Amino acid sequence: MLQFDLSPLIGSKPGKRLDFSLDEGPRQLGDVGVSFLRGRVRFTRIQEGVLVEGSLETEVTVECIRCLTPFPYDMKLEMEETVGFAGRPRPDINYRLTDEGWFDVLPLIREQVWVAMPMKPLCRPDCRGLCPQCGANLNLETCTCQETGDPRLAVLAEFYEQSK
Ligand SMILES: [Zn+2]
Ligand SMILES: [Zn+2]
Repeated sequence: MLQFDLSPLIGSKPGKRLDFSLDEGPRQLGDVGVSFLRGRVRFTRIQEGVLVEGSLETEVTVECIRCLTPFPYDMKLEMEETVGFAGRPRPDINYRLTDEGWFDVLPLIREQVWVAMPMKPLCRPDCRGLCPQCGANLNLETCTCQETGDPRLAVLAEFYEQSK
């Protein structure tokens, strides 16, 4: 949890703000781990509750789709979310303060990390991937397998060879 005490905003007029800067080390956000969180978060009292605005930098570890090697991936996260008060549920507001006026920003950050997650991460634009036949990481080594030829066809050819 990374909680902020927003109780000073509860009784105040719309427009009142609290600013925080974040400089956190490694964190586990539910199902995703980040190696750091840096940036600023601003909480502004609005009519419906508190507006959370954040601008953060972080880094996650993702796996290259070609060579399957994990590598660090930098992200910039922009957050803007309305947080409601405890005991006043509204269907259009997903996050609420605790009864004491605390708010944990990590679930919100986790959501933004997933939004920013690359669909097809590549460790580098020209990643050569794995050899489909021997599994060698072609960024690190060369193998003696045939460059051409579909491995599935190779298996079929072998099968026919054996069944003769
Ligand atoms: Zn790769
Ligand atoms: Zn190979």
